[in-house]
Amino acid sequence: MEYISFPQGNACKGNCAPAGQDLFLNQIDIGASPVNSDGFMTPSCPLMAAPSYYNNKLSDNRHFYSMGKAYSGQVIPLDKGNLMYGKIIDLSVPLMSGIASDPESFLPEIEYVDNKRGALQLAESFPGLDPRELPRQEGWAVEFVRMSTHAGTHMDAPYHYHSHMDDGSASKTIDEIPLEWCIGPGVKLDFRHFPDGYVATAHDIERELAKIGHHITAGDIVLVNTAAGGRYGSEDFIHRGCGMGREATLYLTERGVRVVGTDAWSWDAPFSHTRTKFEQSGDVSLIWEGHYAGSQYPYCQIEKLCNLELLPPCGFNVISLPVKVYKASAGWARPVAFIDERAGE
Ligand SMILES: [Zn+2]
Repeated sequence: MEYISFPQGNACKGNCAPAGQDLFLNQIDIGASPVNSDGFMTPSCPLMAAPSYYNNKLSDNRHFYSMGKAYSGQVIPLDKGNLMYGKIIDLSVPLMSGIASDPESFLPEIEYVDNKRGALQLAESFPGLDPRELPRQEGWAVEFVRMSTHAGTHMDAPYHYHSHMDDGSASKTIDEIPLEWCIGPGVKLDFRHFPDGYVATAHDIERELAKIGHHITAGDIVLVNTAAGGRYGSEDFIHRGCGMGREATLYLTERGVRVVGTDAWSWDAPFSHTRTKFEQSGDVSLIWEGHYAGSQYPYCQIEKLCNLELLPPCGFNVISLPVKVYKASAGWARPVAFIDERAGE
């Protein structure tokens, strides 16, 4: 049996599962990760902390993809049996045509081609074929979508909020995000009690962490459960929930957090509330302050999550892989949490 253990050092003082818990996957495809000149993955990830493991066991499994330039991926075999110990919680919302989830001009559109219409399309590839001759007179079902990369549950890349970092380097686009950022121990901050539009502070985070007995460690994936949770699809969704300000964001990114998430429309407070504050104060620094804080330490925001209320404060793992949209500011994602039901046994 082979498995990946999360690095030691993520031990929680409170309700968390023990450090070194298994990652419940049968394989991980680590595509588009940094590779050195030999094509081997750069062992920058905490999961990659044992290069000998990689070099000894994984070099035979290297897969190379070609898409204009070379991409390297490695497939890590893991024992599927580990899944039996884990409960999987889906943290994503469904993408639906016209669902109340964004400002009007950003609403997703999905055109459905059903099997009857698909039969006509299929028949076009075979001159002389009568679509009624096909099994059950059906062809393929397929969908055409027109939506922003920020529709539904998605992950923002640093390029979303700045073209360049404070040090002058180009900001990462979503296809450049190291996948090791996207897999890690999860921490949930229950901020459902904060009023809509409230901007959470570093002190708010510290107080919640003290309550749940967790210390932030590099690589933690921090998810914020707001009052917007469960409102996806409702007209008030984009106005609901608290946001994370610059100070709160830096509190996390300074400690090595590279992926955060929220069940609200945005990592920042809803614009309708910030707009009122801006009208009153004229203070530009209030606008999108949590996002803009990423120019100092790059990080990704998963937005429009769901089911966060089902998660414990910590003691779970998160995997949130964004769709690799070339040079894009974001990618749709299907984040899941794995809760180790052996924890505490
Ligand atoms: Zn976004």
